[in-house]
Amino acid sequence: NNRQRSNVPKMLGMSRRGVRGNFVPPVRSNGGGAGYATTPRGAAEGLEESTRRCLELLVGPDGELPDKLKNVEPKLIEHISNEIMDQDPNVRWDDIAGLEHAKKCVTEMVIWPLLRPDIFQGCRSPGKGLLLFGPPGTGKTMIGKAIAGEAKATFFSISASSLTSKWIGEGEKLVRALFGVASCRQPAVIFIDEIDSLLSQRKSDGEHESSRRLKTQFLIEMEGCGSGIDQLLLIGATNRPQELDEAARRRLSKRLYIPLPSADARAWIVRNLLKKDGLFTLSEEDISKICAGTEGYSGSDMSNLVKEASMGPLRELLLQGTDINKLRKEEMRPVMLKDFQDALLHVKPSVSQSELGNYEDWNRQFGSHS
Ligand code: ADP
Repeated sequence: NNRQRSNVPKMLGMSRRGVRGNFVPPVRSNGGGAGYATTPRGAAEGLEESTRRCLELLVGPDGELPDKLKNVEPKLIEHISNEIMDQDPNVRWDDIAGLEHAKKCVTEMVIWPLLRPDIFQGCRSPGKGLLLFGPPGTGKTMIGKAIAGEAKATFFSISASSLTSKWIGEGEKLVRALFGVASCRQPAVIFIDEIDSLLSQRKSDGEHESSRRLKTQFLIEMEGCGSGIDQLLLIGATNRPQELDEAARRRLSKRLYIPLPSADARAWIVRNLLKKDGLFTLSEEDISKICAGTEGYSGSDMSNLVKEASMGPLRELLLQGTDINKLRKEEMRPVMLKDFQDALLHVKPSVSQSELGNYEDWNRQFGSHS
C-alpha cells in the first residue's frame, strides 16, 4: 500500500534527500537517537521488528535503501530475504554425479564471469541467462545451488508456479522486489524453477491481465540482468522446454541439456548415499547389476531406490519379531544386492522413453553444444 511505501524511509528514521536533492536530516526518533542505525524500536511505526531487520541489511552507507528498492513494499523485501534467499545452499560440484559436460560449460560460462566480471567483458561477456532443461530429478536444482556455492554468490530460489498461483496479482511486485534485493546482494544467482509456467508461449487470448503483466515485468528484469558489470545471473530450469517462446529463448542465451544419469553416474549415486550412512559393503559386481537394472532411472529415482533398499535390513528384523523400541542399530545387517532387487519392484523410472525423445529433439534444435 502506498502509505506504507512512501513512509518507509521516514519511519525508519533514515537520512533522506529533499525534493531538490538537498540533505534532510533524519527524523528524530522518540528515543532521541538520530539516524537509522541507532533508531530505537518503535520508531519504525507500522513496521515489525523482523521487517526492519531485513531492511537494515540492505541500506547503504548513506542510510538509504538503494534506488531499486525504494518503492518496494517492505513486507515483500522481508519475504524475499527470509523465504527465497538462501545464504548457504550447501551443494558442491562433488555432490553431483556425472554431468561432466554441463559442469564444464557452467564453470566457463557462469562461475568464472561471476568471480571475475572485469575479465569477462566485451567479446568475453557472458550470456544474460542460463537455461537448464531436461527430465525431472536430474540435478538441475543441484547445479543452480552448486553454482552459487562455487561462485560464492547469494542464492535466490523460487518456483515460477508459486509466482503465478500463490502470488496472484502480486507476482509482478514480487519479481521486482526479487531482482532489486538480488542486485543489492551481488554476486547473486536467481534460480527460477519451472520457468516455463512464467514464460510459456501458450495463452494469449485467454491470458489473464495479471499474468501478462507478470511475464512482461519478468522479461524487463531479465533484460537488465547481466548488463554492465552486474554480477547477477539468472538461471531458469524446466522439464518442458517446448513451452518456451522465442522471447524467452533469446533471453536465456545458454541452454544446457541435463540428461538422465549414465550407468557410471547411477553407480556413483548408490555408492555415495550408502557411504554417507556408513552402510557400503556392495561389491563391484553388485553395483554393476544394480546399474543394469536401472537403465532410464533419474538421479532422484536412484535416490528413492537407495532409500527403499535401505529399509530392507530394518524390515527384515521387524518381521522376525524384533521390537522397534529395543532394536540396536548395530544389529542391522548392511544393505545388500537383494534389498535393491526388492526395491526395484517398487521404485520405477519416472521418465518415459517418448519424453526423452522430445528433450533430445529440443536439444538438437535449441541447445548450446559448446
Ligand atoms: P531437478 O531440479 O532436475 O528436478 P534436483 O536437482 O532437485 O532435480 O534433484 C532431486 C534429487 O535427486 C536431489 O536432491 C538428489 O538427491 C537427486 N539427484 C538428482 N540428480 C542427481 C545427480 N546428478 N547427482 C546426485 N544426485 C542427484
